[in-house]
Amino acid sequence: MNVNQSIPPVPPFGQPQPVYPGYHQSSYSGQSGSTAPAIPYGAYNGPVPGYQQTPPQGISRAPPSSGAPPASTAQAACGQVAYGQFGQGDVQNGPSSAVQMQRLPGSQPFGSTLAPVGSQPAVLQPYGPPPTSAQVTAQLAGMQISSAVVPAPPSSGLGYGPPTSLASASGSFPNSGLYGSYPQGQASPVSQAQGHPGIQTPQRSAPSQASSFTPPASGGPRLPSMTGPLLPGQGFGGPSVSQPNHVSSPPPQALPPGTQMTGPLGPPPPMHSLQQPGYQPQQNGSFGSARGPQPNYGSPYPAAPTFGSQPGPPQPLPPKRLDPDAIPSPASPYVVDHGESGPLRCNRCKAYMCPFMQFIEGGRRFQCCFCSCINDVPPQYFQHLDHTGKRVDAYDRPELSLGSYEFLATVDYCKNNKFPSPPAFIFMIDVSYNAIRTGLVRLLCEELKSLLDFLPREGGAEESAIRVGFVTYNKVLHFYNVKSSLAQPQMMVVSDVADMFVPLLDGFLVNVNESRAVITSLLDQIPEMFADTRETETVFVPVIQAGMEALKAAECAGKLFLFHTSLPIAEAPGKLKNRDDRKLINTDKEKTLFQPQTGAYQTLAKECVAQGCCIDLFLFPNQYVDVATLSVVPQLTGGSVYKYACFQVENDQERFLSDLRRDVQKVVGFDAVMRVRTSTGIRAVDFFGAFYMSNTTDVELAGLDGDKTVTVEFKHDDRLNEESGALLQCALLYTSCAGQRRLRIHNLALNCCTQLADLYRNCETDTLINYMAKFAYRGVLNSPVKAVRDTLITQCAQILACYRKNCASPSSAGQLILPECMKLLPVYLNCVLKSDVLQPGAEVTTDDRAYVRQLVTSMDVAETNVFFYPRLLPLTKSPIESTTEPTAVRASEERLSNGDIYLLENGLNLFLWVGASVQQGVVQSLFSVSSFSQITSGLSVLPVLDNPLSKKVRGLIDSLRAQRSRYMKLIVVKQEDKLEMLFKHFLVEDKSLSGGASYVDFLCHMHKEIRQLLS
Ligand SMILES: [Zn+2]
Repeated sequence: MNVNQSIPPVPPFGQPQPVYPGYHQSSYSGQSGSTAPAIPYGAYNGPVPGYQQTPPQGISRAPPSSGAPPASTAQAACGQVAYGQFGQGDVQNGPSSAVQMQRLPGSQPFGSTLAPVGSQPAVLQPYGPPPTSAQVTAQLAGMQISSAVVPAPPSSGLGYGPPTSLASASGSFPNSGLYGSYPQGQASPVSQAQGHPGIQTPQRSAPSQASSFTPPASGGPRLPSMTGPLLPGQGFGGPSVSQPNHVSSPPPQALPPGTQMTGPLGPPPPMHSLQQPGYQPQQNGSFGSARGPQPNYGSPYPAAPTFGSQPGPPQPLPPKRLDPDAIPSPASPYVVDHGESGPLRCNRCKAYMCPFMQFIEGGRRFQCCFCSCINDVPPQYFQHLDHTGKRVDAYDRPELSLGSYEFLATVDYCKNNKFPSPPAFIFMIDVSYNAIRTGLVRLLCEELKSLLDFLPREGGAEESAIRVGFVTYNKVLHFYNVKSSLAQPQMMVVSDVADMFVPLLDGFLVNVNESRAVITSLLDQIPEMFADTRETETVFVPVIQAGMEALKAAECAGKLFLFHTSLPIAEAPGKLKNRDDRKLINTDKEKTLFQPQTGAYQTLAKECVAQGCCIDLFLFPNQYVDVATLSVVPQLTGGSVYKYACFQVENDQERFLSDLRRDVQKVVGFDAVMRVRTSTGIRAVDFFGAFYMSNTTDVELAGLDGDKTVTVEFKHDDRLNEESGALLQCALLYTSCAGQRRLRIHNLALNCCTQLADLYRNCETDTLINYMAKFAYRGVLNSPVKAVRDTLITQCAQILACYRKNCASPSSAGQLILPECMKLLPVYLNCVLKSDVLQPGAEVTTDDRAYVRQLVTSMDVAETNVFFYPRLLPLTKSPIESTTEPTAVRASEERLSNGDIYLLENGLNLFLWVGASVQQGVVQSLFSVSSFSQITSGLSVLPVLDNPLSKKVRGLIDSLRAQRSRYMKLIVVKQEDKLEMLFKHFLVEDKSLSGGASYVDFLCHMHKEIRQLLS
């Protein structure tokens, strides 16, 4: 949580408040160097046994080049940087601005990302001016690891049952302005005249300049004013958001004065600033694809590596030298091949060669930056040093100059000392009555016929190396032989589900092109074969078992795509019963709703992980299916769960097919193990995400992709050095989709500070929230939900009280004083507290809660941010010709004007809210009806009309969808309509029907808690 190397991305709404025109100009000095260790707040850091750690070795851990590492340069950059430069509206935190910002003089462009640089012979190359330490630091700081590592997760459609179920919920929405029990007396109101526009909107990254809050202008009760004490030179403490798994720009502080990093007077940033940027694909995590347009057949490979490239000019050919500033595409970083000798590692701690390793003795040895061990340089790797002590080939080698790169692994890194076979995909389709009746099976089979042409492939490969297989099932399993030599597919039925085996090996997993005719024939026949089925019962565990056994028999890793409709009640291992019981909510037994019903699923998951078998589960339930249990295997194998409640082809096919296409096409890795190494004084103590761990250090992922994030919690338990900072290295060993064994390495250098004030100046609220949400969502498995909520509140209060006590200048107790960087902590925390998992409303089912719980577990920071605090975009306030994304407003009913139209999205849900007094022309332009009353409530598709407004709104919807990993189905909500209740659930600053506090109430509550801690 102390990483701040990224540009502040999206402010969900940087809406300038009326009274404060200078908003965008606010100074922003916050990037001040010191990134500090996490504050050791109590209950979080459970002891974690035995993280492998070498004994402290004193200092000696110097960065590769002579210069001082982050901390020192950092201070140089403490100067004010106009905030606007950081593009407060930049969700994607993407390439263009980031890359430009870090471009240093003398750097060269680099070319195609796959240049096999590492295989170059280590000949002496002419070398340019020795890189400065800042270059290296900047380079490293721009890397992908941060407190959260790896990729990010998805989300899916509407998390609720059929909208109609809400109809029964009645009652008016309480006015958000009231805050009952908190006396106004303690408020020390700050008047509008002082120029503070009311409680600052929770901008996600733009720490607002205002250092005090005033009550909402609406005239609600006054709040205690919150004064963010401005310490000398404080300004903003850095971006409050990081998107850890997004490649980010190096922290400005890493640049010495005089580099091109724009200083206070620098030129405006390259576009993205100030406004929400154009609709650009969200760069996704370190593994996988750029989030672009939803995959479709027109442009089958949206994941094309575009990351490191500047938009516009064509990529130059690979130059001889690496550009130290360039960030390689996460989808395809540089691959280094050291031949038979394999990657170079420290003998003691096994860290991989990286830019921080220091070469000594004329280049014959190197000292490990993690454990200080002195290692010999193998003869074939020897290179001379320049006068600064740097290897002259440093910029020819990714592992000596880049933050992220890959090594080709040798056979030693392979299971059973054998190179892996290409992976396989197995499609396992429920053909019970429900699946047939809803049209799912027909739709799916039809889709697969074309989708199979778009299996992930590596690099420029002509066809995918992935083999495919097919199984259908209800309470028995049907395997299909689709060998290319057959005229027709053959079916083999296995009814002994208690002891699953795979009845055929040859012909089960096949190459799509070779067996195309047979596969097509099979997919044509499946819907017909089961058209008249009366079978309603299904099995589940035996299905996964069968897929895993098939992979085992084929000696490969792979992924199972499971399409499942109902609670598996048929007699078989993993049989479940309906145990949904809403009466358990708010009792000590509530946790059982989140726990799996039987241990069979975890046991199965363990076997799957051992085989490198990842499960993606698509659920189509009409009623309770026990998501908590069914999602155990996907969760532990690095897979995804998608849920389409009450699936109907006509309403849900677009969402399902979009998700399916993306899921099948995305770049995936298999059979992965991740380990994080650190320098002395800091260690990884906890991990969150979709994976399995059999010990305390190795994160095992049967599969992984760009939609999953692994969050790593670090603890510092020894002295950290402000001079040398802290170093992290994340190494991920995996099998690529072409069956190549590789190691992806990410390195990161962090600054350290000794002053608490520096710590608070550099913390990242969004990252904290991401972590706290995951911590809490895991907590509900073992503790009563209320206890989890209370813990969150206490921890948050402790963080803020500690600041007040140690960093803030004295002021009256009636003032709520928050650090600049944490001003939004209360509003976001409140959103977590009142989320469906921690405080469910009446309309939220047990399955919904379990589903959301596991989704959040692998979300990245950007995703949790928008998930907990949705974006509310006014559509008719800006000029129609404006091409920028509208600026979001605060998610409160107060912000809705009945003459306007708004879009609301949170990564899973998408609403179009129409005010009752919207101009008739607008209604006509968007809906092609003549009046508000004629608009169909619940509409999910806008008519395609040829006018500017319609095009703009539909374009915006498309771009919002493209930014998310799951397709968001649109729901049109009319003001005063019964569906509005569902919509209002997402107005998170208001009091919720489930009893969640309004922002104002919660702020007062936090204030009280803080005062209690201080007194
Ligand atoms: Zn070492």
